[in-house]
Amino acid sequence: MKIGDLVVEPVFDGVMKAPATSFKGTTDEQWAPHRQFLDSDGMLAFALGGFLVRAPGDRLVLVDAGIGARTGAMMGGLGQFSGGELLNSLAAQNVRPRDITDVVFTHLHFDHVGWASQGGMIVFPNATYRCDTRDWEHFRDNDRVQPILAPIADRLTTWDSSGPLCPGIDALSAAGHTPGSTIMVLSSGTSRGLLLGDVVHCPVELLDDEWGGLGDLDPELARRTRNALAREIEGTDTPVAAAHFPGMVFGRLLSANGRRYWVV
Ligand SMILES: [Zn+2]
Repeated sequence: MKIGDLVVEPVFDGVMKAPATSFKGTTDEQWAPHRQFLDSDGMLAFALGGFLVRAPGDRLVLVDAGIGARTGAMMGGLGQFSGGELLNSLAAQNVRPRDITDVVFTHLHFDHVGWASQGGMIVFPNATYRCDTRDWEHFRDNDRVQPILAPIADRLTTWDSSGPLCPGIDALSAAGHTPGSTIMVLSSGTSRGLLLGDVVHCPVELLDDEWGGLGDLDPELARRTRNALAREIEGTDTPVAAAHFPGMVFGRLLSANGRRYWVV
Protein backbone atom coordinates (compact mmCIF):
# COMPACT_ATOMS: atom_id res chain seq x y z
CA MET A 1 0.00 0.00 0.00
CA LYS A 2 1.38 3.40 -0.97
CA ILE A 3 0.12 6.51 0.77
CA GLY A 4 1.84 9.35 -1.03
CA ASP A 5 5.55 8.78 -0.36
CA LEU A 6 4.87 6.33 2.48
CA VAL A 7 5.05 2.60 1.81
CA VAL A 8 3.03 0.47 4.25
CA GLU A 9 3.41 -3.30 4.40
CA PRO A 10 1.80 -5.85 6.71
CA VAL A 11 4.21 -7.83 8.87
CA PHE A 12 2.60 -11.12 9.84
CA ASP A 13 3.37 -12.77 13.14
CA GLY A 14 0.66 -15.42 13.29
CA VAL A 15 -3.03 -15.98 13.59
CA MET A 16 -5.72 -16.23 16.24
CA LYS A 17 -8.77 -18.36 15.52
CA ALA A 18 -12.00 -17.63 17.31
CA PRO A 19 -15.68 -18.48 16.91
CA ALA A 20 -17.63 -15.82 15.03
CA THR A 21 -19.90 -15.54 18.05
CA SER A 22 -16.93 -14.15 20.02
CA PHE A 23 -18.61 -10.89 19.18
CA LYS A 24 -20.99 -10.98 22.12
CA GLY A 25 -24.56 -11.75 21.29
CA THR A 26 -24.02 -12.27 17.59
CA THR A 27 -25.75 -15.23 15.98
CA ASP A 28 -25.08 -17.35 12.90
CA GLU A 29 -28.04 -15.58 11.32
CA GLN A 30 -26.43 -12.18 11.81
CA TRP A 31 -23.19 -13.47 10.35
CA ALA A 32 -24.85 -14.92 7.25
CA PRO A 33 -24.47 -11.74 5.13
CA HIS A 34 -20.88 -11.31 6.35
CA ARG A 35 -19.32 -14.65 5.41
CA GLN A 36 -16.55 -12.73 3.60
CA PHE A 37 -15.00 -12.04 7.01
CA LEU A 38 -14.97 -15.71 8.10
CA ASP A 39 -12.74 -18.55 7.01
CA SER A 40 -13.94 -21.79 5.38
CA ASP A 41 -14.71 -23.24 8.83
CA GLY A 42 -16.93 -20.27 9.70
CA MET A 43 -14.33 -19.04 12.17
CA LEU A 44 -12.78 -15.63 12.58
CA ALA A 45 -9.12 -15.90 11.61
CA PHE A 46 -7.66 -12.78 13.21
CA ALA A 47 -4.27 -11.83 11.84
CA LEU A 48 -1.53 -11.10 14.37
CA GLY A 49 1.34 -8.77 13.57
CA GLY A 50 2.12 -5.16 12.79
CA PHE A 51 2.67 -2.76 9.91
CA LEU A 52 6.00 -1.59 8.54
CA VAL A 53 5.93 2.03 7.41
CA ARG A 54 8.77 3.26 5.22
CA ALA A 55 8.73 6.98 5.94
CA PRO A 56 10.79 10.01 4.83
CA GLY A 57 14.26 10.46 6.29
CA ASP A 58 15.06 6.73 6.17
CA ARG A 59 12.65 6.07 9.00
CA LEU A 60 11.53 2.46 9.26
CA VAL A 61 8.60 2.42 11.63
CA LEU A 62 6.99 -0.72 13.01
CA VAL A 63 3.42 -0.05 14.15
CA ASP A 64 2.69 -2.81 16.70
CA ALA A 65 4.92 -5.78 17.34
CA GLY A 66 2.72 -8.87 17.14
CA ILE A 67 2.18 -11.48 19.82
CA GLY A 68 5.70 -12.91 19.91
CA ALA A 69 6.95 -16.48 19.77
CA ARG A 70 4.16 -17.99 21.81
CA THR A 71 1.05 -20.10 21.43
CA GLY A 72 -1.90 -20.50 23.75
CA ALA A 73 -5.49 -19.62 24.48
CA MET A 74 -6.89 -16.11 24.65
CA MET A 75 -8.69 -15.10 27.79
CA GLY A 76 -12.48 -15.07 27.72
CA GLY A 77 -12.83 -18.10 25.46
CA LEU A 78 -11.67 -16.09 22.45
CA GLY A 79 -9.84 -19.03 20.91
CA GLN A 80 -6.31 -20.16 20.17
CA PHE A 81 -3.40 -18.02 19.05
CA SER A 82 -0.08 -18.87 17.49
CA GLY A 83 2.68 -16.35 16.81
CA GLY A 84 6.38 -16.25 16.10
CA GLU A 85 6.78 -15.19 12.47
CA LEU A 86 7.31 -11.45 12.77
CA LEU A 87 11.10 -11.38 12.45
CA ASN A 88 10.92 -13.81 9.50
CA SER A 89 8.32 -11.58 7.89
CA LEU A 90 10.58 -8.55 8.32
CA ALA A 91 13.54 -10.50 6.90
CA ALA A 92 11.43 -11.36 3.85
CA GLN A 93 11.08 -7.59 3.38
CA ASN A 94 14.88 -7.19 3.75
CA VAL A 95 14.53 -5.56 7.15
CA ARG A 96 16.74 -6.54 10.08
CA PRO A 97 15.72 -5.76 13.66
CA ARG A 98 18.51 -3.18 13.92
CA ASP A 99 17.10 -1.32 10.90
CA ILE A 100 13.88 -0.39 12.72
CA THR A 101 14.08 3.25 13.87
CA ASP A 102 10.75 3.44 15.71
CA VAL A 103 8.35 0.94 17.28
CA VAL A 104 4.97 2.60 17.77
CA PHE A 105 2.27 0.84 19.78
CA THR A 106 -1.41 1.49 19.11
CA HIS A 107 -1.96 0.11 22.61
CA LEU A 108 -0.21 -2.25 25.01
CA HIS A 109 -2.26 -5.45 24.90
CA PHE A 110 0.05 -8.45 24.80
CA ASP A 111 -0.82 -9.33 21.20
CA HIS A 112 0.61 -5.96 20.07
CA VAL A 113 3.81 -5.78 22.12
CA GLY A 114 4.98 -9.41 21.72
CA TRP A 115 8.29 -8.62 20.03
CA ALA A 116 9.14 -5.52 22.07
CA SER A 117 11.60 -7.73 23.92
CA GLN A 118 12.52 -11.39 24.11
CA GLY A 119 14.05 -13.14 27.11
CA GLY A 120 14.59 -9.76 28.76
CA MET A 121 16.44 -8.32 25.75
CA ILE A 122 15.23 -5.54 23.47
CA VAL A 123 14.49 -6.98 20.01
CA PHE A 124 14.91 -3.74 18.02
CA PRO A 125 18.17 -2.35 19.42
CA ASN A 126 18.20 0.98 17.58
CA ALA A 127 14.52 1.80 17.88
CA THR A 128 12.77 4.40 19.96
CA TYR A 129 9.69 2.75 21.43
CA ARG A 130 6.58 4.91 21.56
CA CYS A 131 3.15 4.59 23.20
CA ASP A 132 0.45 6.63 24.89
CA THR A 133 1.21 7.61 28.49
CA ARG A 134 -2.21 6.39 29.65
CA ASP A 135 -1.56 2.87 28.36
CA TRP A 136 1.91 2.82 29.87
CA GLU A 137 0.49 3.75 33.26
CA HIS A 138 -2.28 1.16 32.91
CA PHE A 139 -0.20 -1.78 31.66
CA ARG A 140 3.35 -1.32 32.97
CA ASP A 141 2.62 -3.51 36.02
CA ASN A 142 0.19 -5.87 34.29
CA ASP A 143 1.25 -9.47 34.98
CA ARG A 144 1.01 -10.55 31.37
CA VAL A 145 2.93 -7.72 29.66
CA GLN A 146 5.20 -6.40 32.43
CA PRO A 147 8.02 -8.86 31.57
CA ILE A 148 7.80 -7.83 27.90
CA LEU A 149 7.62 -4.09 28.58
CA ALA A 150 10.20 -3.79 31.38
CA PRO A 151 13.25 -3.97 29.06
CA ILE A 152 11.99 -1.07 26.91
CA ALA A 153 11.27 1.28 29.83
CA ASP A 154 14.40 3.37 29.32
CA ARG A 155 13.92 3.43 25.54
CA LEU A 156 10.37 4.68 25.70
CA THR A 157 8.92 7.99 24.57
CA THR A 158 5.24 8.54 25.36
CA TRP A 159 2.59 10.88 24.06
CA ASP A 160 -0.34 12.37 25.98
CA SER A 161 -2.68 13.48 23.22
CA SER A 162 -3.24 13.47 19.47
CA GLY A 163 -0.36 14.91 17.47
CA PRO A 164 2.68 14.16 15.29
CA LEU A 165 4.85 11.15 16.22
CA CYS A 166 7.31 10.83 13.37
CA PRO A 167 7.45 12.04 9.76
CA GLY A 168 4.20 11.00 8.08
CA ILE A 169 2.64 9.47 11.22
CA ASP A 170 0.30 11.25 13.63
CA ALA A 171 -1.37 9.84 16.74
CA LEU A 172 -5.15 10.15 16.95
CA SER A 173 -6.36 9.34 20.46
CA ALA A 174 -9.17 6.76 20.34
CA ALA A 175 -9.77 5.62 23.91
CA GLY A 176 -12.14 2.85 24.93
CA HIS A 177 -10.47 -0.42 23.96
CA THR A 178 -7.72 0.70 26.34
CA PRO A 179 -7.21 4.08 28.07
CA GLY A 180 -4.55 5.11 25.54
CA SER A 181 -5.76 3.34 22.41
CA THR A 182 -4.55 5.27 19.40
CA ILE A 183 -5.27 5.34 15.67
CA MET A 184 -2.21 6.03 13.53
CA VAL A 185 -2.88 8.58 10.82
CA LEU A 186 -0.51 8.11 7.90
CA SER A 187 -0.24 11.09 5.61
CA SER A 188 1.87 12.26 2.72
CA GLY A 189 0.90 15.16 0.49
CA THR A 190 -2.84 14.93 0.02
CA SER A 191 -2.95 11.16 0.68
CA ARG A 192 -4.11 9.74 3.98
CA GLY A 193 -4.58 6.29 5.49
CA LEU A 194 -5.39 4.92 8.93
CA LEU A 195 -4.06 2.08 11.06
CA LEU A 196 -6.85 1.39 13.53
CA GLY A 197 -5.15 -0.65 16.23
CA ASP A 198 -7.89 -2.54 18.07
CA VAL A 199 -10.49 0.21 17.74
CA VAL A 200 -11.83 -2.27 15.19
CA HIS A 201 -10.95 -6.00 15.16
CA CYS A 202 -12.96 -7.02 12.10
CA PRO A 203 -14.31 -4.75 9.34
CA VAL A 204 -17.82 -6.02 10.10
CA GLU A 205 -17.81 -3.71 13.14
CA LEU A 206 -17.71 -0.70 10.83
CA LEU A 207 -20.83 -1.75 8.96
CA ASP A 208 -23.31 -1.59 11.82
CA ASP A 209 -23.21 0.77 14.81
CA GLU A 210 -24.71 -1.87 17.06
CA TRP A 211 -22.09 -4.54 16.45
CA GLY A 212 -20.25 -5.25 19.69
CA GLY A 213 -16.49 -4.88 20.11
CA LEU A 214 -13.95 -7.30 21.55
CA GLY A 215 -12.01 -7.06 24.79
CA ASP A 216 -12.80 -3.38 25.33
CA LEU A 217 -11.88 -2.09 28.80
CA ASP A 218 -14.59 0.57 28.48
CA PRO A 219 -17.13 -0.96 26.07
CA GLU A 220 -19.42 2.09 25.90
CA LEU A 221 -16.59 4.53 25.18
CA ALA A 222 -15.11 2.05 22.69
CA ARG A 223 -18.44 1.86 20.88
CA ARG A 224 -18.73 5.65 20.64
CA THR A 225 -15.13 5.89 19.40
CA ARG A 226 -15.73 3.17 16.79
CA ASN A 227 -18.98 4.69 15.57
CA ALA A 228 -17.41 8.15 15.28
CA LEU A 229 -14.63 6.62 13.22
CA ALA A 230 -17.09 4.84 10.93
CA ARG A 231 -19.00 8.08 10.34
CA GLU A 232 -15.77 9.92 9.58
CA ILE A 233 -14.41 7.47 7.01
CA GLU A 234 -17.74 6.38 5.49
CA GLY A 235 -17.89 7.27 1.82
CA THR A 236 -14.35 8.66 1.74
CA ASP A 237 -11.43 7.33 -0.21
CA THR A 238 -9.36 6.80 2.96
CA PRO A 239 -7.79 3.33 3.10
CA VAL A 240 -7.88 1.77 6.57
CA ALA A 241 -6.40 -1.39 8.04
CA ALA A 242 -5.96 -2.98 11.42
CA ALA A 243 -3.62 -5.59 12.81
CA HIS A 244 -6.38 -8.20 13.18
CA PHE A 245 -8.12 -7.71 9.83
CA PRO A 246 -8.11 -10.85 7.66
CA GLY A 247 -4.80 -10.79 5.76
CA MET A 248 -4.09 -7.33 7.25
CA VAL A 249 -5.47 -5.94 4.01
CA PHE A 250 -6.44 -2.28 3.59
CA GLY A 251 -10.02 -1.53 2.67
CA ARG A 252 -12.42 1.37 2.28
CA LEU A 253 -15.80 1.95 3.89
CA LEU A 254 -18.21 2.86 1.12
CA SER A 255 -21.79 3.98 1.48
CA ALA A 256 -24.78 3.47 -0.79
CA ASN A 257 -28.55 3.27 -0.33
CA GLY A 258 -28.25 3.92 3.38
CA ARG A 259 -25.87 1.01 3.93
CA ARG A 260 -22.15 0.72 4.44
CA TYR A 261 -19.96 -1.66 2.44
CA TRP A 262 -16.42 -2.83 3.06
CA VAL A 263 -14.37 -2.95 -0.13
CA VAL A 264 -10.76 -4.13 -0.38
ZN1 LIG B 1 -5.27 -7.03 19.58
